[in-house]
Amino acid sequence: MAITLKFCGATRTVTGSCFLVRTPKVSFLVDCGMFQGHKTLRELNYGTFPFDPKRIDLVLLTHAHIDHSGLLPKLWKLGFAGPVLMTRGTRDLLSFMLPDSGHIQEVDVENLNRRYARRNRGQIEPMYTSADAEACQENFRTVEYSTWTEAAEGVRVRYWNAGHILGSASLEVEIATGRDDQRFLRLLFSGDIGPEHKLFHADPEAPNNFDYVICESTYGGRRRTRASEDDRRVLLAQMVKDALRADRMLLLPLFAVERTQEIIADLTRLQQSGAIPPVPIFLDSPLAIRITKVFQAHARELEGVGERSLLTNPNLRFTETVEESKAIDRISGGAIVIAASGMCDAGRIRHHLKRWLWTEQATVLLAGFQAHGTLGRLLADGVDAVTIQDELIKVRATIRQTDLYSGHADGDELAEWLAERQPIARALFLVHGEDEAINALRDRMVASGMAPSRVVAPVLDDEMDLLSDGVGPRPRSGPRRLEPEVIGHADWHNDLARFTLDVREAFDRAADDRSRAVLIRRLRRALAGEPADDAKR
Ligand SMILES: [Zn+2]
Repeated sequence: MAITLKFCGATRTVTGSCFLVRTPKVSFLVDCGMFQGHKTLRELNYGTFPFDPKRIDLVLLTHAHIDHSGLLPKLWKLGFAGPVLMTRGTRDLLSFMLPDSGHIQEVDVENLNRRYARRNRGQIEPMYTSADAEACQENFRTVEYSTWTEAAEGVRVRYWNAGHILGSASLEVEIATGRDDQRFLRLLFSGDIGPEHKLFHADPEAPNNFDYVICESTYGGRRRTRASEDDRRVLLAQMVKDALRADRMLLLPLFAVERTQEIIADLTRLQQSGAIPPVPIFLDSPLAIRITKVFQAHARELEGVGERSLLTNPNLRFTETVEESKAIDRISGGAIVIAASGMCDAGRIRHHLKRWLWTEQATVLLAGFQAHGTLGRLLADGVDAVTIQDELIKVRATIRQTDLYSGHADGDELAEWLAERQPIARALFLVHGEDEAINALRDRMVASGMAPSRVVAPVLDDEMDLLSDGVGPRPRSGPRRLEPEVIGHADWHNDLARFTLDVREAFDRAADDRSRAVLIRRLRRALAGEPADDAKR
């Protein structure tokens, strides 16, 4: 009998979480997430799954974030008809998040098709629509925390609070092996793990003693600023006051789920105590508005919310319509604008960045993880110009970054969490992290006594035989969708974008039209593969 685990995403990168477990009786996925970040990676969303959706019996979902759940409607569209198990919090969040994701794709495809039509290229279809995303939810089933659920024949699962976002869980999975020497294989999928002392949630928990632990490592190499709730608010207040001086704008690109609600809770407290000016706070994201209401409905499960409503701030304005959103452009006198997406690669924040990035009248405060290849990462890296919707925009606004509001455990906290899961009899798989983070956490686990051969960082589409004799997993070889070295690094699309910016700069700087003509001639020669003028003898 073979039990295998295939890594269909989140290998050496932080998105596209999806793990396929196969036993002779069932096949199930843990998460079915969307790839985000650079274009080569995002194109995987449009390709075929590395398995047949019709032959998947069920999905166990760790939490609602799109990089863990975003391909569920596609899976359903392609014939998956089994149940999807999740907590109630996750289900309530997804009831808005998945249709929103479908809507984003419809709009993106509409824009692309308009461009393609102008270039005489064929039209494309969205991966799934908002209607697909509604329909796929008919198979969602909720489970209770800390309670065993018989998920399928020979497979049971227990959900544990992961302290990451509302409804998030680490999954303890037991699989019957049919063997006398070891009747069950015990697996733990960490999901995303929250930091200690996070606003809204108790510290992450889970049992110990596993055969395999599949652990995220987003911040495996980082030690974050440790700040108490009061310290955090003092630091935020200072950043907000700096940003708003002389009636300027503060733009907060935020993840609609949880980060937005945490920041609103803190800004509300700071305005109530008079620590920051009572400027309007625009929540310019229909999704974030709905999600904020889900948080309200779950207020009793959230720590530190109590009787205090998240929505009682009289300065908080919800902008639902596009017209209301556009009206923010004309604001004077200082304001805070919160809009998605958190990595600036989609959503209304791009409109505000286009409006304000080129002026010195705004501050952009990045308060979340910025993956390679996203606009947010470029801004964090301090580039002096970016392109938004094909338009070149100089960056004159102040760009600041803070790690005070992470939804993820840092290196120390991950190591502590893993120490509490020991013994790990066979292997620890490190996933959901870029190379530096994974390497740092691996070194740490080896230093703490784990054999190097038992700390494994899989690459995309690796498949492991979990019951092989000997301690660790035995890799199986099979086809791969992408070469490992492409993942987790800026790709040629980024290089091309940079190069295009450099070309435009060179033309801007050129002394006169004559030198511009020379530049064009040289570039044309290079494109034709001819040697440049000065290389000729
Ligand atoms: Zn997450």
